[in-house]
Amino acid sequence: MAGVIRRLDETVVNRIAAGEVIQRPANAVKEMIENCLDAKSTSVQVTVKDGGMKLLQIQDNGTGIRKEDMEIVCERFTTSKLQTFEDLSAIATYGFRGEALASVSHVAHVTITTKTADAKCAYRASYSDGKLKGPPKPCAGNQGTQILVEDLFYNVSTRRKALKSPSDEYSRIVDVVSRYAIHNSGKSFSVKKGETVADVRTLPNASVVDNIRGVFGNAVSRELIEVCCEDQKFAYKMKGYISNANYSVKKCILILFINHRLVESSALKKAIETVYAAYLPKNTHPFLYLSLEIAPQNVDVNVHPTKHEVHFLHEDSVIESVQKHIESKLLGSNSSRTYFTQTLLPGLSVSGGSEVKPSSAAGDSTERVYAHQMVRTDCRAQKLDAFLQPKEKPPPDPEPAGASSKEPATKTAQPDSIDMDETDDADMLEALAEHEAEVPKGEEEGVHDVQRKRPRKTEQEEEEDLTAAATPKRRAIKLTSVRELRAEITESAHKGLQEMLQNHSFVGCVNPQWTLIQHHTKLYLLNTTKLSQELFYQILIYDFGNFGVLRLSTPAPLYDLAMLALDSEESGWTEDDGPKEGLAQYIVDFLKKKSDMLMDYFSMEIDQEGNLTGLPLLLDKYTPIMEGLPMFILRLATEVNWDSEKECFRDFSKECSMFYSIRKQYILEAEPGEEQDTDVNSWCWKVEHIIFKAFRTLFCPPKNFSEDGTVLQIANLPDLYKVFERC
Ligand code: ADP
Ligand code: MG
Repeated sequence: MAGVIRRLDETVVNRIAAGEVIQRPANAVKEMIENCLDAKSTSVQVTVKDGGMKLLQIQDNGTGIRKEDMEIVCERFTTSKLQTFEDLSAIATYGFRGEALASVSHVAHVTITTKTADAKCAYRASYSDGKLKGPPKPCAGNQGTQILVEDLFYNVSTRRKALKSPSDEYSRIVDVVSRYAIHNSGKSFSVKKGETVADVRTLPNASVVDNIRGVFGNAVSRELIEVCCEDQKFAYKMKGYISNANYSVKKCILILFINHRLVESSALKKAIETVYAAYLPKNTHPFLYLSLEIAPQNVDVNVHPTKHEVHFLHEDSVIESVQKHIESKLLGSNSSRTYFTQTLLPGLSVSGGSEVKPSSAAGDSTERVYAHQMVRTDCRAQKLDAFLQPKEKPPPDPEPAGASSKEPATKTAQPDSIDMDETDDADMLEALAEHEAEVPKGEEEGVHDVQRKRPRKTEQEEEEDLTAAATPKRRAIKLTSVRELRAEITESAHKGLQEMLQNHSFVGCVNPQWTLIQHHTKLYLLNTTKLSQELFYQILIYDFGNFGVLRLSTPAPLYDLAMLALDSEESGWTEDDGPKEGLAQYIVDFLKKKSDMLMDYFSMEIDQEGNLTGLPLLLDKYTPIMEGLPMFILRLATEVNWDSEKECFRDFSKECSMFYSIRKQYILEAEPGEEQDTDVNSWCWKVEHIIFKAFRTLFCPPKNFSEDGTVLQIANLPDLYKVFERC
C-alpha cells in the first residue's frame, strides 16, 4: 500500500532547511562575522557558552540595522546587499542571499540589539521561526549590532546529536574567528567563553604577522616569508605569508581567503604540498596564509553556505602560477639563509645571447677558458666525496655502464633505501625491489645508449633504422599525440643549459635533492629532483612504446599497493571519500582495464589477477625507489586524464617520472661520504653515474629551469680570487 503524501508543515520545512545551512555553531559564527564585516565594523567580539550550543553572542560596531528593517531581517531572502541577479557577478559583500539570520532564527532563539548612527537610541527585538516576537523595544546601546543566539538546535535533535563535545565545537569557533582576525588585520577581534579572558584577541593596530603570532605562536611567525604577486593573464592577485623551509608542522595549515571569504580548495592545497614536499622533512607540512583576489566574474560565488570548497575559472593555471610563486619564494629564502645568492645564470639567459656553442665546440669557443681559471680542468678530477670518504675506499668505477649490461645489475635488493621498517609491508616492498632487468626481445646490450644519443632521431630516421639489418628493432611511433609531446620538449629546450649539462664536471651530491657541478669557471647547484623528473619524463615520451621491462621478482597486488597509498597521509584520504577498500578495488579494476595499453606503450605489466609484474626500464641499471610505488598507483587512478590521448600520455609520463625521480622524502640513507657511497645502490652513486651521465646525452632541459631556481649559480671563480686577494 502506498503511503499518503502530505504537505509538510511550513515551520518543519524551514527548520530542516535551516539545519542544512547552519550545521554547527562555527557555521553560524562565520556567517555572523561576515555580516559584521559587511556592516563595516572595525571590532567584532564573540562570546561563547557551552561550545555555542547554549549561547553565541556577536557584538560589532558597524552600521547597525534600521528600526524599520528589524521586522524582516530574520525572514528568508531578505538582504540589504543585492537587488538584481546581475549584481551577483560583481558582489563585494559576503552575504547576498539573506539566508543566514533567517536560518539561525529557525533553529535557535535570536535577539538582536542594534543602533544606527542617526537613531536616537538602540532597539532590541527577539525572533522565533524568522518572525518578530513583539515590536522592537527602545533601549540603551552604542552604534553597532549585537546578535544573541541561544539554545542552538533546541528544536532539531538530530543536529544537536551530530555535534561533537562543547570543547571541540568551541575550538572550531576559535579557529574561524582567528582566521578572520588574521585576514582582517587592522580590525580587532576577540573570542572568549563567558566572562573569562579572551582566548584569541587581536588589536586594531596589529599587523598580519602580529596576528599570526598571537594565534599560532612565535615558532611560526618568525619563519614567515611574505608573498605577493599579480597575474594579468589569469586576472588574480595574491598576498599572504608562508612558512619557510625551517618550519614544519604535522598537519598542513592553509588559511585561504578568496575574495575575502574563508574557503577551502583541496586542489590548491595539494599543489602547495607538492612544492613543500621537496623542502620539508618527510611527513611534515607548512603553514600558509593566502589571500587571493580573483575577478569576481571568474569565481563561482553562488555556492551554498556550507560548501566551503570553491572553484574558479582557469583554476589549474592559477594554481600552477601560485605554485611557481611559492616555490621561487621558498628558494629565495633558502639561499639567503645559506650564504649564497642566486644570479640568473649569466650567459645562460633564455633570451638573446644564450646560444652557447654546442658541446664539441666548447674547447675552442671564442670565449676561451684557461686552465688557471678553472677550479678543475678535467671531469675525472677529484670530487666532493673524496673529502668525506674514508681514504682506503677505492673510488667507484667511473664507467660501469659499458662493462656489464648482461648481468642484471639492478637485481640487488635495496633494503637500505626503503624506509618501511614500521610495517609488514616492508617485506613486500623489499621483494619488489628485487627484480630483474629485462631487455625487450631483439635488443642487445648498450642499445639504450645508442638509441638515445643526441640529436634525437626523427621519425624518418627511425624508420630508416628499421631497414638497416644490423640495427635492433625499434618501433616507430606515429601517434600525433606523441609527436606533439616530443615537439613540446624540443621547443622549450634551453641550449645554454643543455650545453652546460653536456660538458659539466661532477663535483658532488649535497643531499638527494641537490647536486653541485662545475662548468667553466662557475659552480652550480642543481635541483636533482626536478632535473631527474624531467629526464624521466623525456625518456618516457621519446622512447614511447620501446621500453624494456623491469620485472618484479614477486608480483605486487595492486589492491595492496592502493591500500598502502590510501593509508598514507599524503593521499589526503578522508572519510568523505568513502571506504578505502572500495576505492582500492576500483583502482584495481580500472587499471586492469588499461593494462593492454600500459603494457604496449609503457611496458607496465599488470596480470589478470590485478598484480603489477613489471615496470618500464627507463635507464640502464636504474630502479625507482619502491616506496614511491603505492602513491604512483593511486595517482594513476586519480591524476591522469584517461579520456584524451595526449593528456593521458603526458599525465602518465609525469606521474611515472615523479615516481622514478630522485627525491628527498624517499631516501633516508646516510649522508654522502659514508659507506654507501661506493655502493651501486646508493642514491649518490645513482645520481652521479646514472642520472648525471644521462644528462650528458639524453636531455633537453626546458627554459624555465634557468629561472625557477632549478639551476643556481653559486660561485664564479674570478670573483672568488678577488676575495682571496684582499685577504
Ligand atoms: P545576507 O548577509 O545574505 O544579506 P543575512 O541573513 O546574513 O543575509 O542578513 C540579513 C540582513 O541583516 C543583511 O542584509 C543586513 O542588512 C542585516 N544584518 C545582519 N547582520 C548585521 C550586522 N551585524 N550589522 C548590520 N546589519 C546586519
Ligand atoms: Mg550574511
